[in-house]
Amino acid sequence: MTNEELWKAVLGQIELSISKANFITWFKNTLILNNQDGVITIGVPNGFAKEWLENKYNLYILRALKSFDENIKTIHCVIAPERASMVPSGDSLKNVDAIKPPESAGFVRKKLIEKPFFTATGSAAPAFHETNLNGRYTFENFIVAENNELARAACYAVSQNLGLAYNPLFIYGGVGLGKTHLLQSIGNEVVKSSPEKRIKYINSERFTTELVDSIKNQKIDLFKEYYQQMDLLIIDDVQFLSGREKTQNEFFHIFNALYQINKQIVISSDRPPKAIPTLEERLRSRFEGGMITDISRPSLETRMAILEAKISEKGFLIDTPAIRYIAENITQNIRELEGALNRLIAFCEFHRVPPTLENTRKVLGELVEDNRKKIALDDVFQTIMSFYGVTKEDLVKKSRKKEIVRPRQIMMYLLRTELAMPFSAIGEHLGGRDHTTSLHAYEKINQGKERKSRLKEELATLKERLYATEAS
Ligand code: ADP
Ligand code: MG
Repeated sequence: MTNEELWKAVLGQIELSISKANFITWFKNTLILNNQDGVITIGVPNGFAKEWLENKYNLYILRALKSFDENIKTIHCVIAPERASMVPSGDSLKNVDAIKPPESAGFVRKKLIEKPFFTATGSAAPAFHETNLNGRYTFENFIVAENNELARAACYAVSQNLGLAYNPLFIYGGVGLGKTHLLQSIGNEVVKSSPEKRIKYINSERFTTELVDSIKNQKIDLFKEYYQQMDLLIIDDVQFLSGREKTQNEFFHIFNALYQINKQIVISSDRPPKAIPTLEERLRSRFEGGMITDISRPSLETRMAILEAKISEKGFLIDTPAIRYIAENITQNIRELEGALNRLIAFCEFHRVPPTLENTRKVLGELVEDNRKKIALDDVFQTIMSFYGVTKEDLVKKSRKKEIVRPRQIMMYLLRTELAMPFSAIGEHLGGRDHTTSLHAYEKINQGKERKSRLKEELATLKERLYATEAS
């Protein structure tokens, strides 16, 4: 058996006992460089792989090797990037690209339609139809958990039954929770199953800009005609239509034209229709006439599950304590969770160190701190004031009215949990009160939230608002 044959056989065995993602990450571009006196020298492309093969996979490799040659006693790895990259890829390693995220496969779907919607005569308008879909977002890579399963199910049903399942479908939820991902998944699913359908994904800001341009260029009729030919119209972040009367008016007409002939409309927003200020009544009632469903914040377990899925999608392996650390500290949304993970991976690859808990703390500690620091005292004031309809004066004065005392206690609680402020400072900021007052308030709310689910929800909403104001 040559070294090459031996290694191929060994890889064949290992592949059966670990996940595909891990197999590709750690065993791609490896080879046996030397086999002498029971010592196998494995060439690996980088220090990262060396570390993992020697420490984590040592036993797997040794066991597999021994099954072919009992005399083999130990393995060691050397970094041999040039040699390693010359390895002819074995069958099992051929499809490396297949598990990379679709983004790297570089496909952003653009659907061309033979007949231009816009006449080319001197117009700057696009002569072809662009769906604006990004192939990266699919149902397959959307992780379903308790916070999004209803929304996901509704979106999936719509994709299977355009115009007939739920129309319009309205999805709402805070930033970075997966609304765009789901909306785009509908479009991508339809492209796959019925490529002849006309699909348009657009966010409401871009919709507004296009509309304004078309009015300026006297092409408003073409604009409307274009949108009214869609089989599936997806409008993302519709809250930005708030206050734009003219846009709402045109949208209303497009909406009706589509709706009447059972064309599918899907809408997202950061809040329910009721809570979008200055949304025309007739639009609101249209939205409410369909299916409304929300995506809420993911629990710790869900955040961990999402991280795990993203890690294996990237063909990586990260210890559970490190995953837990990320999930416990990045709580607000999934976009930030992904950002933190990418940062960790980049760091580990660059410095060729494994993603242990210690290294994760090192890389993300600052980010975690920043996240905490971002919220300032004033943000908490603003959130409490607008949520409960109280003034700053109410909060810092001595009023003992129930409508004031409660918001004040909740504010004290938030200053403690979100800003980690000392009780004495909390008391001072809220009208020079004693530290025992703020300690008492904190404990009262903290215990109350365990017993009363309404209070718990209230706190969750407040936190969401607190961080949402920060993000904008
Ligand atoms: P939103 O539109 O609600 O602000 P996005 O859809 O842009 O949020 O989601 C932010 C990021 O998080 C995207 O990269 C998206 O792919 C990812 N994401 C959100 N939810 C999930 C999920 N359940 N499974 C996998 N990825 C998710
Ligand atoms: Mg979005």
